[in-house]
Amino acid sequence: MRASNTQPRSLTVCVLTAFYLTFSQSALGAGQAHVHGHGKLLIAQEGTHWQLEFTLPAADMVGFEHAAHNERDKEHLRHIAERLASPANVFTTRGGDCQIAEKEVNLPGAGHHEGEHEHEAHTEHKASHADVRLHYQLQCIGDLQSLTLRLFDMAPSLGEIEAQWIVNAGQGQTELSPSKRELVW
Ligand SMILES: [Zn+2]
Repeated sequence: MRASNTQPRSLTVCVLTAFYLTFSQSALGAGQAHVHGHGKLLIAQEGTHWQLEFTLPAADMVGFEHAAHNERDKEHLRHIAERLASPANVFTTRGGDCQIAEKEVNLPGAGHHEGEHEHEAHTEHKASHADVRLHYQLQCIGDLQSLTLRLFDMAPSLGEIEAQWIVNAGQGQTELSPSKRELVW
């Protein structure tokens, strides 16, 4: 007649699962109108692993939302991708001793393989909006205490980033901007 003792653990799992589901739905909403100048950041802690997911309008991060039309566009995308692949250009952390375990930089129109050129011309004009998606996984000894966004320096038109977090210290939501770059949970 005693209550099951598995409830606390199940609750934690549910919260994390809901968080990821919410995120993947919004991320999969390709073509969904985003607002230029507004980005999103999701932070989730799972033990020593910290996931950071950015969804940012390509208009702000790249300067255009179409696929690369020519060599100059491609060179520009390569340059942006290189900068974003260096986490220090995107964020810095305080507290914890962290290493980057994984990183993923997805730029619209940059994912074409060689040999796909014939298709580009026919498909690229359809898209109206496109997102830049960044994923970084950190492995930390000790908890992160705060995160400071540096990507505002790369993207002057990016006016705000809506940040949501679920970490051991709690969960919440706030808006970060060029004048309020540090997120403390
Ligand atoms: Zn757009």
